[in-house]
Amino acid sequence: LIEAAKAMDEVFWMQAYPGNRDSLLASLDSEAAKRYVMINYGPWDRLDGNAPFLPGVGPKPLGANLYPRGATPEAIRSAADLYPERDLLGLYTVVRRDARGNFEGIPYHVAFQEQHQRAAGLLRQAAAFAQDAGLKAYLELRADALETGDYQPSDLAWMDMKTNPLDVVIGPIETYEDQLMGFKAAHEAYVLLKDPEWSGRLQRYAELLPELQRGLPVDSTYKTETPGTDADLGAYDVLYVGGDSNAGSKTIAINLPNDEEVQLAKGSRRLQLKNAMRAKFDRILRPITENLIVEEQQANVTFEAFFGNTMFHEVAHGLGIKNTISGTGTVREALQDRASALEEGKADVLGLYMVESLIERGEWTEAELNDHYVTFVASIFRSIRFGASSAHGRANLVRFNYFIEKGAIVQEEDGRWRVVIEEMENAVESLARDILTLQGDGDYDATAAFAGTYGEITPALTASLDGLAAAGIPVDVVFEQGVDVLGLGTPEASGE
Ligand code: ZN
Repeated sequence: LIEAAKAMDEVFWMQAYPGNRDSLLASLDSEAAKRYVMINYGPWDRLDGNAPFLPGVGPKPLGANLYPRGATPEAIRSAADLYPERDLLGLYTVVRRDARGNFEGIPYHVAFQEQHQRAAGLLRQAAAFAQDAGLKAYLELRADALETGDYQPSDLAWMDMKTNPLDVVIGPIETYEDQLMGFKAAHEAYVLLKDPEWSGRLQRYAELLPELQRGLPVDSTYKTETPGTDADLGAYDVLYVGGDSNAGSKTIAINLPNDEEVQLAKGSRRLQLKNAMRAKFDRILRPITENLIVEEQQANVTFEAFFGNTMFHEVAHGLGIKNTISGTGTVREALQDRASALEEGKADVLGLYMVESLIERGEWTEAELNDHYVTFVASIFRSIRFGASSAHGRANLVRFNYFIEKGAIVQEEDGRWRVVIEEMENAVESLARDILTLQGDGDYDATAAFAGTYGEITPALTASLDGLAAAGIPVDVVFEQGVDVLGLGTPEASGE
């Protein structure tokens, strides 16, 4: 599976970087520069809005290497209207120019045939070893998908598998790399080991959603929908990550599949990546805490609370409402480009509300409420460092300023921050109510005004963030990974 994941990594390099990777690396003397190129899959800093970090390198093309250089969205759209059979706007095609300069859409399984076939062969070999029937069926169908470009049968099979101890997410999946048009999926792979105990506990919390929905601190008209209890939640350790998901920032939770027809038929699965969270806690959140949180509250920042907050964030996406109360359609449609940041803000604050409720009921005993509050605030600094260009970054900025306004966070004279525990519950409730109301009303202007009021980076915050950078605290982690790291040796017939 790891060898198959490496094939996706090769493809992602070709999608992300218009030049040749090996020539780029060979042109560099500095080991640090080479390493940073590998981390970013190119000479643009993914944690700094894709700013070039090597001399002489221009801005990153918006379409990465998924479209011909200089092609405009208008030109591609009009060609797509004239020649729909070329599938120029497809999720699984790369756009190139033919000999006469016309746009053509080349299916991924053709454009990246060598890597797709190699990965397919490896998945079939793995399927032969699989003892879990669901996993076996999925691996075989995924191999077929890589050869034909028809991913839906394997997505359905992925949702059907429930008892597999190993999992693999592989293929062209997310579209964030395509900043030109947002159509093209980038290749990625996760090889995962399921944690059965935590997965069982997550499932249990999902079952409590309808009850928690009724208790939401908002007018009853904003909570008329009943959340599904069939959410598929699991906790996993990451064994290997390749391609898009290994580029720049590292994910701690996945929600798939993206195919809306599969979602309607089978729902979706949320995967929590425990060891990735642990790495971020140890290497980033702990040092941030020591830098920015008052000394007597530092012990309240715990991994258990961090894991809980992150896990309940995912579960809390299921709370609230998906459709506006005026019956005009979905919240997402009404709030457009504002929708993601508000939805992430909702999940964070309702995650905390869930913790409060579950601790009250004795359903959650891993950490104390104070730990969850202080860990939550320390995490705000971690997330804001990903920048205002990310939905999570924006959501964190809003809640930081909101909590200050409500008196739930105060800054001491030495520059460290204190969580005012007795104000937190009210602040959480009030923010939850504001967000749920904005979503329910589907009011775009009010949402923009809310983000404007609370979305400002203050000098005090800038000084705190500068302090973290000066202390050399990383914004994100990189993974040491591979068969050697796992102590598995080198497989035979790996094609290398
Ligand atoms: Zn989320």
